[in-house]
Amino acid sequence: MTRPSPTIRGLRRFSRLVTIGERNECWPHDGRADDKGYPFVNIGGYCTRAHRLAWFVAHGEWPPDGSVVRHSCDNPPCCNPRHLLLGTVKDNSDDMVERDRAVHPRGEALRHSKLTEDDVRAIRIAYGNGVKQPDLSESFGVTQACISQVVTRKTWSHVADLPALENVT
Ligand SMILES: [Zn+2]
Repeated sequence: MTRPSPTIRGLRRFSRLVTIGERNECWPHDGRADDKGYPFVNIGGYCTRAHRLAWFVAHGEWPPDGSVVRHSCDNPPCCNPRHLLLGTVKDNSDDMVERDRAVHPRGEALRHSKLTEDDVRAIRIAYGNGVKQPDLSESFGVTQACISQVVTRKTWSHVADLPALENVT
């Protein structure tokens, strides 16, 4: 999956919220956080976690597919590039288990990081049936801004709806 580069506005908003400290200190991002304590940022059309954007800023590219950006300091809001390590999804789970911080089973943790196409269809159908965005946000573990983008097709516009029932014969 190719991810777009963040917009200038997105980067400005991001940098305003990061407190840059001494070289080896944590540089926390002061944005709203998800249920695991990771602040998220909207960077022109989609949401990502602040520390992933910090990685992008430091390296000029997104972390490679299949990798995760880990914190050597174990501090989710930290955006100091010196505290960010590239790992595999498995490393990250091992880390969490080692540090006794795993609150969700692995599959669910992964699920929180990204919606699937099936989720997107389900969200649109539920929204069309009157389910409110905050409730969808909670059920799918993503921000309400992300839900809003899904239902207005600002994101995931390539995902076709399921065929309407009357067309299935
Ligand atoms: Zn740190």
